[in-house]
Amino acid sequence: PSVRVGDLARIVDQKLPSLQRKMQRIGMTPEQCRSDYLLSAEDASLVAMEYGLSPIVDEEKSFDIYPDPPPTPEELQALPSRPPVVTIMGHVDHGKTTLLDALRHTSVASGEAGGITQHIGAFSVSLRDLLPNSEGNDPTDSSITFLDTPGHAAFTAMRARGAHVTDIVVLVVAADDGVMPQTKEVIELVKAEGDHIGLVVAINKCDKPGIDIHKVKNALMVEGVYLEEDGGDVPSVQVSGLKGIGLDALVETLATVAEVRDLRASRKSKAEGFVLESRVEKGRGNVATVLVTRGTLKTGDAIVAGQTWCRVRQMTDDKGKAVKETLPGMPVIVTGWKDVPVAGDEILQAPNGEEEAKKAIANRQRDAERKALMADVEKINEKRRLQRERIEQEEAIAEAAKAAGSDPVAAAAAAHRQAEATEKANAFRELRLVIRADVSGTVEAVVGALEHIGNKEAGVKIIHAGVGDVAESDVAIAEAAEGMIIGFSVKAPKAVQSHAAKSNVPIHLESVIYRLIETVRAKVAALLPPII
Ligand code: GDP
Repeated sequence: PSVRVGDLARIVDQKLPSLQRKMQRIGMTPEQCRSDYLLSAEDASLVAMEYGLSPIVDEEKSFDIYPDPPPTPEELQALPSRPPVVTIMGHVDHGKTTLLDALRHTSVASGEAGGITQHIGAFSVSLRDLLPNSEGNDPTDSSITFLDTPGHAAFTAMRARGAHVTDIVVLVVAADDGVMPQTKEVIELVKAEGDHIGLVVAINKCDKPGIDIHKVKNALMVEGVYLEEDGGDVPSVQVSGLKGIGLDALVETLATVAEVRDLRASRKSKAEGFVLESRVEKGRGNVATVLVTRGTLKTGDAIVAGQTWCRVRQMTDDKGKAVKETLPGMPVIVTGWKDVPVAGDEILQAPNGEEEAKKAIANRQRDAERKALMADVEKINEKRRLQRERIEQEEAIAEAAKAAGSDPVAAAAAAHRQAEATEKANAFRELRLVIRADVSGTVEAVVGALEHIGNKEAGVKIIHAGVGDVAESDVAIAEAAEGMIIGFSVKAPKAVQSHAAKSNVPIHLESVIYRLIETVRAKVAALLPPII
């Protein structure tokens, strides 16, 4: 088993930078500390132990699917080229949608699909259609992929996880409006990405009378964007999305930028990509637009994304044409998802098929559940810790005051003992239960079903069990024991519920035994040390 550094941070419940600092301190290399680095189980365990955790290495439970390591610069040189992925950004009303529509329309009008525009979150424009003089017959060698994901939700999600899906950003600036707040945001974003993203400026609405291009250029310069035609390094084109002016120049510029960036991707490695959009469609079920970034996606492949998986039933391109294989840089609609995947989720092929995909997803779902439960437990614990600290402090002060006249050393020692006692009490991992059920036979059945849940490290301790509705006395018992109340086929009167809520005592009411067992199991699991 192995685990990504980013995932380990989640497992040991630490912020990534703090985990990385710790890793460096114990002698791991900067390479190993990268968030996407795959740590061996042994290394990950070492790190977890640094946080006082005793991890369990479990082959089955830690199984997941990971991307292949990135190619070395030499390997990259030998790979086939791929189309650039372009995102159009800019201030509201500067003409992004109009420009995208114009570009999409040229691709459709000159293509074979007979003028049908399908909005799927991305589309591909063939250079051969737009620029008759361009060379090459390979469609992926001579096309540009435009992302038009609504609100750039997927783009933001992918960026947040450090994925570089977009190669080039086209910054649209309306000539009549100039540099506006969102224009500046895009410039900042592109700067932050450094070498990962190329920038092209499209000065739009050039059809409008009385516009002043120099004013726009000067405003861009103030933001640190120097255009090529003025001796800078940012290519720019003057366009009108509305009138369709300058589109070929834009596409040509994008093709040049792409060529300089020398974009390549393996077509042979297992398929990888991202979810751009997803929805439920009548007749087709759960569908997602997928951008393949590496490898070749084929019908019949098993892929995972977030907490769901898919056996690729059908793939349709942006022109509505059915395809059997999708190469890097190409967007397709994929059907066959068990659930609707989330935009921005990373897609990975399970190289050994369906069973592997299922296993990985079962683990991801269990981890997510566990994390949610832990967060709940954590919230309650935090409240209790604060309460306890306050009481301790008061006691320590009282004791110190008593001892102050005679022996300050004894006073300090008393406070220390108290702190130690609290710590010991906290290390004990048990789910303490107060049980209520409708009849005595049921009480015994419930106790019998729950008392053996757990293992050496964590388990159930039943502190009290009785017949009838949940009572005030149960709340008092559970509160003193820092436990919870289980009611099986009984009620909890309003007054009791509000008392319990005030005392931070959870009440769980249930009438199906297997569901109760599942709940209690999950709560015990949440007390266990992390699994790597
Ligand atoms: P977005 O908010 O950036 O997507 O902008 P839209 O594409 O929705 O355009 C905003 C407004 O500007 C619309 O009324 C468009 O018709 C208009 N517009 C867009 N491009 C041009 C252009 O090239 N010339 C002119 N004159 N108007 C344009």
